[in-house]
Amino acid sequence: MRQCGTNGGRRLAATAAALVAVLYATLWPAPAAAQFPVQQPVPCTSFYGEPVQYIADASLNDVGMSTRYYGRPIILLNPMVLQRFAPLVQIWWQAHECGHHALSPAINSEVAADCFATRALRDLGYIRTWADLEELMRELATLPGNAFTGHLPGPMRAAQVRDCFVN
Ligand SMILES: [Zn+2]
Repeated sequence: MRQCGTNGGRRLAATAAALVAVLYATLWPAPAAAQFPVQQPVPCTSFYGEPVQYIADASLNDVGMSTRYYGRPIILLNPMVLQRFAPLVQIWWQAHECGHHALSPAINSEVAADCFATRALRDLGYIRTWADLEELMRELATLPGNAFTGHLPGPMRAAQVRDCFVN
């Protein structure tokens, strides 16, 4: 299980609560245009070839979390936290969580998931211009780092994302 990003990486106190939320969660609801400019989240397939489901969970104590539920790969995203970010960055968070499932377990890390997300958005055409990239970097630079979870301090994280974009 990986919890990602915005709160310095505090572990979910209530994993059970998250699982209960899954029980009651529906598929990702029809996106409000102001929040999600795309009709679908970033398509996601696990490293093992499984489809990965995105589930909205407003009780999540963070922006997102990748985990498994009864063996199936899922991504929980908190829409209340997501909406604090620009639309492009919201999509990037989806792709970041996807990266935790899509990457080989041997290389899965916060840094690798950041890189996966950045390249995915580049290759899918969401990041087209330097202005797009700078918007992403500007918001990531505000995030706290956390040595325990492997999140780099925001400015370092933003710089690493830029390197992933160009390489
Ligand atoms: Zn992560």
